[in-house]
Amino acid sequence: ATTHSFARYKANNIVEDGDLVVLYLSKENVILIRVDVNETFNCKFGSYRHADMIGLEYGTKLGSNTGRGFLYLLFPTPELWTLILPHRTQILYVADISFIMNFLNLKPGMSMIESGTGSGSFSHSIARTLAPTGHLYSFEYHQERVNAATKEFEDHGLSDMITLRRRDVCKDGFDLVDRVDAVFLDLPAPWEAVASAKRAFKKNKIGKICTFSPCIEQISKTVTALSEHKFVDIQMYECLIRFQEVRILPILTIEEAMEKERIHESKRQRALPRVLRDSYLKATAKANEDEELPPAKHMKIEKGQEEENSNKDNDDTNKKDQSLSGTPAEFEASGKTVTITKLPVEQRGHTSYLLFATLPPSVDSLPVVTLE
Ligand code: SAM
Repeated sequence: ATTHSFARYKANNIVEDGDLVVLYLSKENVILIRVDVNETFNCKFGSYRHADMIGLEYGTKLGSNTGRGFLYLLFPTPELWTLILPHRTQILYVADISFIMNFLNLKPGMSMIESGTGSGSFSHSIARTLAPTGHLYSFEYHQERVNAATKEFEDHGLSDMITLRRRDVCKDGFDLVDRVDAVFLDLPAPWEAVASAKRAFKKNKIGKICTFSPCIEQISKTVTALSEHKFVDIQMYECLIRFQEVRILPILTIEEAMEKERIHESKRQRALPRVLRDSYLKATAKANEDEELPPAKHMKIEKGQEEENSNKDNDDTNKKDQSLSGTPAEFEASGKTVTITKLPVEQRGHTSYLLFATLPPSVDSLPVVTLE
């Protein structure tokens, strides 16, 4: 039996018999277990008796019987579940999940619809946010996915907070009236569920809807349906992850910058095969002549003297490099630095567009104020 739930932390934070624990061995090796005093967890680094886990605090680092391995005992959170759950469908990941929950303004005590349930990734996060008194109505038309999610919600202590129904919401609607604060649709044709979603919103409250679609054509059809049903403030977002590399660079004078560039140029040339270097030198000399610029230092290299000159240049380069460099701390102390950010070339691309809209309270539900 479940002693605790994904939706709330345990007050004592201690692993007990029957609890769920995420075993974190490495980034690629994360497993959810239920602690059973008679069981042992085995892996290639050794064995871990569940009995040894009981009484430890979540977060503890535990060594294996061989002393060759270790793992962390982590509390099972929706974020960890999203990383390790068995994929029955495409799922929502934490970046989109947090964005959607924020823009839907989800709070404890609210009621919400999601469809489809899929692999239940988003359902876990929603349940924790709405806990302890809120409720999630989750709809899925694929029977095996319904069965698997029903079992997981039970195992994870969420079944009192989630009502999961097997239903084609585009054909048959949600069959809920005046019941929810928010709706989330991760369906191929969300526009077909908009009319029924509208009926499900609480009449006297502001309702928020979000649909998640990979193609702009789907978004376009959903926008049309939302406008026809008098949703307002319709906005689309795309949640893209961008890592920013932060660097502290020295601020150079023009002379220092030119010298640095000369050194780089000389290094670039030495990296070229000899044949290419000759034609490169000719081309740069020609370009410099055309622009009537004084020849750069490297232009003095004569054929047959490359090695000698390049060694000399190398020594020279090292000397200059040193004179221009310094430790980041030295530069920072001198106050001659600038902080920049740089985008790495490889970034995760498009997943889906997020369309948000608001349903104002119905006029009939508003209190009537009589002016004297
Ligand atoms: N958001 C889910 C998650 O984070 O795990 C993933 C949802 S998955 C991409 C879409 C699900 O919608 C599928 O499981 C599919 O069976 C279900 N579905 C598609 N059309 C449906 C409909 N008309 N009614 C109910 N469920 C539907």
